[in-house]
Amino acid sequence: MKRSFIREILEHTTNQTISFAGGLPNESLFPYEALRDSGYRALSEPSSLQYTTSQGYRPLREKIAEHYTKQGFPTKSDEILITSGSQQALDIITRYYHSREITIEAPSYLGAMNVFNLNRLEQSAVTLETDGIDIDGFALSFQQSKLAYLIPDFQNPTGLTYSEEKRRAVAEHIENTGGILIEDSPYSELFFERSYPSISSMIPEQSYHLGSFSKVLAPALRIGWIRASEPLLQPLIPYKEAMDLHTNSVAQRIIADYLSDTEAFQRHLETLRSSYGQKMELFAKALDEFLPMFQYNKPKGGMFIYGSLDGISTSSLVQKCLQKDVVFVPGREFYLDGSIDNEIRFNFTNSSEDKIIEGLQIIHSVL
Ligand code: PMP
Repeated sequence: MKRSFIREILEHTTNQTISFAGGLPNESLFPYEALRDSGYRALSEPSSLQYTTSQGYRPLREKIAEHYTKQGFPTKSDEILITSGSQQALDIITRYYHSREITIEAPSYLGAMNVFNLNRLEQSAVTLETDGIDIDGFALSFQQSKLAYLIPDFQNPTGLTYSEEKRRAVAEHIENTGGILIEDSPYSELFFERSYPSISSMIPEQSYHLGSFSKVLAPALRIGWIRASEPLLQPLIPYKEAMDLHTNSVAQRIIADYLSDTEAFQRHLETLRSSYGQKMELFAKALDEFLPMFQYNKPKGGMFIYGSLDGISTSSLVQKCLQKDVVFVPGREFYLDGSIDNEIRFNFTNSSEDKIIEGLQIIHSVL
């Protein structure tokens, strides 16, 4: 096990530090007042403080199921399991599949790689291309592992999005060979232009689809979920029960109450999409002006811009930048073997325009 670079480096930052490191939503966009009102209503009767079922608060599961169904992925509330963030969803599923092999993307989400280690899965990483995972590499690895973990929408860390062709190719391959997909989609609602069909909707009997309110409402509530067919979902419930009985039910009620105003939630999502889209453009423009040697592709959604600096060790660069109060995540953190050391992940959602420009100018001067 190794500590997350981001959590470790946060201990060395000060109020002055310009951070492009954490995947933090922009606080000014939290629907704070609406959630506070929902919090008041969620606590309006003593029964809201009682234990609840392990699978999760039914009205919330119904809301989530409705959302899938509206998007063309028919879902029942019994096909949803509420978890403490999607991080716990990854833990529950891979405790169930402990000690197996698993195919992941290179690079991939560090928090997932850590939990796979914890549950003793043997990870095999396949290169991520600009339109999704390398299909030949995937086919080879999946043939062996029969279990895959993919982040097809605005991936963490790369910001990359799978094309519809790649989604279909992955689904077809999983369908033909048998086996299981864990599709992690905490960023899917944060698209700038359009959304994409989930791979899970193409193979509903062979997939777990993971969602989260962390990026679209508030991470502090720690509410995520697993969407899976009942034969896949039911065996996970004893695991959830053994781990923590159930997810914080006050937080579940707060979100269920907030979601009862469907239009307000839709408006909130639209605000996030347009604001993050503008932020991304602004960050990209600042990169082109102040760090022109950084090579990257603009993401189509999410929170990250990812790219490379030719011939530069970004893990050394970040230590020098930290002394000047600027941080980012060196790409090395996101590879199993740490072999690639000239890449950077920038979070673009959390800093103001002035800080973005100042931070990039500092990185340039350090370079
Ligand atoms: N999966 C991915 C790809 C993530 O980026 C994150 C958060 N950084 C998570 C899962 C965990 O999110 P949470 O537990 O807050 O839902």
